[in-house]
Amino acid sequence: MSGAVPVGFRARAERATADAHLRGVLHNVTDRLIDARRVSQGHLDNSEELRRAARSMRDDIIRRLPDVLDRLATNVEANGGVVYFAADADEANAYIASVARRIGARSAVKGKSMATEETGLNEHLAAAGVDVVETDLGEWILQVGGDTPSHIVAPAIHLSRGDVRDLLQRVSDGELTDVPEELCAFARAVLRERFLRADLGITGCNVAVAETGSIVLVENEGNGRMSTSLPRVHVAVMGMERVVETWEQLDLIMALLPRAATGQDISVYVNQITGPRRVGEVDGPDEFHLVILDNGRSDLLAGPFREMLNCIRCGACLNTCPVYRQVGGHSYGWVYSGPMGAVLTPLLGDVEGSGELAGASTLCGACHEVCPVQIPLQDLLLALRRRSAADADLGERTAWRAWAEAWSRPSTYRATTWAAGAVGRVLPEAVFPDAWTDGRVVPRRPAGGSFRRRLRSGSV
Ligand code: SF4
Repeated sequence: MSGAVPVGFRARAERATADAHLRGVLHNVTDRLIDARRVSQGHLDNSEELRRAARSMRDDIIRRLPDVLDRLATNVEANGGVVYFAADADEANAYIASVARRIGARSAVKGKSMATEETGLNEHLAAAGVDVVETDLGEWILQVGGDTPSHIVAPAIHLSRGDVRDLLQRVSDGELTDVPEELCAFARAVLRERFLRADLGITGCNVAVAETGSIVLVENEGNGRMSTSLPRVHVAVMGMERVVETWEQLDLIMALLPRAATGQDISVYVNQITGPRRVGEVDGPDEFHLVILDNGRSDLLAGPFREMLNCIRCGACLNTCPVYRQVGGHSYGWVYSGPMGAVLTPLLGDVEGSGELAGASTLCGACHEVCPVQIPLQDLLLALRRRSAADADLGERTAWRAWAEAWSRPSTYRATTWAAGAVGRVLPEAVFPDAWTDGRVVPRRPAGGSFRRRLRSGSV
């Protein structure tokens, strides 16, 4: 897609749904991810039991989050690491820039991190004179194209391999083909050189383990391992909820996360990092910093949206969502998309019009069905809709209340549906909002009679 990005979910979604190429690519990849998840999930004979256990484990950790984070920070420091609690994006960016300045960093390599997408770290470091290169293949492709992620696990999901070839051709002296192995080899050659001369490595953190002060990076490309072991300083950035207490709890997360994310029984790499390089160790950085990002999360701790902090960012709810599958991630307007993004964006993001995202759902519950920690996303979306309704003007609120009142009683329900059918038959189409009539024909009478009449006559 090209041209100015439209403002608002509805306009962006309209543009996306008109793009047949985008929809084809999205369906292709999300279908494959759904199938792979189903197969991998089938390798477990107790997946529902594990999901229930994961939900209760995450509930318990989030309820005691301040204590668990305290334990994590104490143990990271005991290992020789530095912990920085960042209240918001500005604090996180300023801290990382100060580390870069102190060590005289000119070049940084970065593993995939949605938390730093949240804070806009790359732009901040670029302004501070640090050249940051993304090293996750999908993220690097997007960086080359000046694009942003459209999926939390597969950031370049919206691009076909032809699109990728065209983008990488911009930075290649030779002619590239669209053969995936050749494109990967090209990326590897460019990125290897960047790993070797980077002063600073920046990564996210899939899960931190409080009992040993470790962080765990789940990945398939090895770029996380290179970003954390080659540069002399490593900074990891984690949302404050991305923590478990024990390795046993991590085990449960690892049984579910790769399966839900990419349909793998286990990812190719599971990096476990405990502090900077120790005496006698060959690899690893001189310094390890852990930035724990709040950025609005603590406001959720005591409220009705707390369960959203249980999210382990697997992306399964995006793949299965009938809305995401049509409109893609960019339509949501921020870092997070799909059902989890429709909940998180209005709560954490400073995004104009994000209130309308709660309406970007059929409430079919497919997201809840696949969520490895059983987050009731449809209930959270309904709660957001209720919150927006409370902000509606008096006239609108009165109208909805009257409707709810009428349809709560059989007699008034019958009377109003009869009246709607009778009036609908004679009303000119022009009185209906364009948004309804543009894409559908207004029915003039209930097809084959009303449901109630058909039920009485025994035809249903
Ligand atoms: S809400 Fe559930 S399914 Fe969606 S990304 Fe988070 S953990 Fe995965």
